[in-house]
Amino acid sequence: MKLTKLTEHIYYMEHDPETDRPTLGYVKGEKGSFMMDAGNSAAHYNHFIEKLQENHLPTPRYLSITHAHWDHSFGLWATDAATIAGGKTNKELEKMMQWTWDEPSMTKRLETGEETSFSDTHIRKEYPHRSDIKVKTAQISFNGSMTIDLGDVTCILREIVSPHCRDSVVFIIPQDGVIFLGDSYCSVPQGDTWVYDKVLLMAYIDELERIDFRFAIKGHHPPQTKDEIIGELKAEWRKL
Ligand SMILES: [Zn+2]
Repeated sequence: MKLTKLTEHIYYMEHDPETDRPTLGYVKGEKGSFMMDAGNSAAHYNHFIEKLQENHLPTPRYLSITHAHWDHSFGLWATDAATIAGGKTNKELEKMMQWTWDEPSMTKRLETGEETSFSDTHIRKEYPHRSDIKVKTAQISFNGSMTIDLGDVTCILREIVSPHCRDSVVFIIPQDGVIFLGDSYCSVPQGDTWVYDKVLLMAYIDELERIDFRFAIKGHHPPQTKDEIIGELKAEWRKL
């Protein structure tokens, strides 16, 4: 996967649907750099670091994740950066640290609905040896929002209501007019289809419209302009 420069300070590596690897992002400031989402494994995280090195970019000083779902958080343990997550995300990760990855445990989580069959399928593809899975919480947690000052550029980490999960955080980089969404714009899998909650989707659209940005980096799709993503989400809402 290639690393693309989106704006003056911001880069991203595109998502890979094969093992459900999400988009990873990077903000380069004069006082250090910030990585957005950790990847679905140490292999995914390290692939991103290799891309940074190829492009003569420093390894991240800070790393934060958009939510606890495995594909965004299971690379956390592999980094030396200071790690940050929303308080709700860290609570989810604490629960997931207790999970075991043998067949009976995985089957049971599917039965109880703790895990979706979509994730189960892709975890098996990303991890031929499931003993390689390590779940870790972030070192620093926040509620509401926090700001990272990288000198010439700042990153605002902010909780947001989302139709995808209860622990969504977005990253806003005002100087570049960019928002990193993770999966906050996504619906949730229900059997073989993906379903939006109508009320949560409208609340999300409302919040997004009030945030000033030019480009949105999406977790599992190419980036879009503000008009494009708002238009797309409103079209989804009208279908409900
Ligand atoms: Zn997710």
